[in-house]
Amino acid sequence: MDSLEVVQARIRAAVPSAHAGMAPLRDALGLVLAADIVAGEDVPPFANTAMDGYAVRAVDTFDAPVRLRVVGDLPAGYAPTIPVGPGEAIRIMTGAPMPDGADAIVMVERTERDGEDGVTIQVRAEHGDHVRAPGGDVHDGDDVFGPRTVLSPAHIGVLASLGFTDVPAYPRVRVGVISTGDELREGPGVLAPGQIRDSNRPMLLGLVQEAGAEAVDLGIGRDDEAAVTAMFRDAAASCDAIITSGGVSVGDYDVVKAVLGQLGALEWWQVAIKPAKPLAFGLIDGTPIFGLPGNPVSSHVSFELFARPALRQMMGFADGDVDRPVVTAIASAAMPRRADGRLHLDRVRVHYDGDHYVAVRSGAQASNALAGMASANGLALLDDGPGPTAGEHIQVMLLT
Ligand code: AMP
Ligand code: MG
Repeated sequence: MDSLEVVQARIRAAVPSAHAGMAPLRDALGLVLAADIVAGEDVPPFANTAMDGYAVRAVDTFDAPVRLRVVGDLPAGYAPTIPVGPGEAIRIMTGAPMPDGADAIVMVERTERDGEDGVTIQVRAEHGDHVRAPGGDVHDGDDVFGPRTVLSPAHIGVLASLGFTDVPAYPRVRVGVISTGDELREGPGVLAPGQIRDSNRPMLLGLVQEAGAEAVDLGIGRDDEAAVTAMFRDAAASCDAIITSGGVSVGDYDVVKAVLGQLGALEWWQVAIKPAKPLAFGLIDGTPIFGLPGNPVSSHVSFELFARPALRQMMGFADGDVDRPVVTAIASAAMPRRADGRLHLDRVRVHYDGDHYVAVRSGAQASNALAGMASANGLALLDDGPGPTAGEHIQVMLLT
């Protein structure tokens, strides 16, 4: 058996490196910036009002309450056409540019309309009250975001405010997902004897998307070497990476292993972990293929440990953003396990009690028991031995 770290390092060294490109901003959520972003303009672009109210000369309000003459009306989106002179005010809406002459805004709640052309200002305004300065958010020439920034909705909003429609970023990798097995069927209907429904492919398509990549559904491959060979070649030509499940253990019908072997692309490991011991990996014409085990929990855990970090490395994520975070938690009850030379990854539910993370095993721990995985939000990393006792500190990889 090989250790988890050794196999992870081999895979990270084998996958293609990230290549920067340009991405449309509308598709950039979760992508990694490949260059510095420098502002080419001020945000906001002009001085404007933060409030609905009246644009005034602060000096005219020093004896408040005072009556000012209303000489205009200015909604957002329009340029002022007249200035504010002594004793005058312009009614103004949030976001509208400051008219010449005015240097403060009095919010509408502190005023009272006084006839057709007048307003009573009830409070004294100071120079600059409720005025947003040009460049108050971002200045022309500012270094806004650095390379390796992972783009959040707020980053995308800032980039849009600066006029970007495309950004320098590492493109989303296209990942083809294939299930293998004669027993698999999809959709509704009664199962024939021996059949089960394909749960891995929908799950892995979701995991690929959650990792920030583009998921491509390539269907089910039967346990037939010629058919699976053709599927793999097509997938390698149209995708940047391939994820399969099933057919990688030591049985007679382990089609993924057999086909990768014939293509001269097979690396096969028995990793010292439970679940997800067997793993096949290879490069088909340079395209990495991850042959994950068939049992659904094993597939999920194997994706988390091997495929997700590799895909994120291919998408340019900084080292600290490649892996899931690991936290120290308190085991709420004993988590007995058998000493077997392997690291156990138990599915747990983690919550924060105000002082500590607390971990509780979630559901059955068999490698086909996916319901326990569904209610888990972490994988407890249990070193070889009898397992932690209640109250012991354990390491937990957070999945959310
Ligand atoms: P295998 O490694 O192909 O022998 O598969 C191991 C176990 O996982 C068997 O019980 C399979 O029926 C099950 N399995 C394989 N692929 C899937 C899948 N896509 N969905 C659900 N179960 C699967
Ligand atoms: Mg199979």
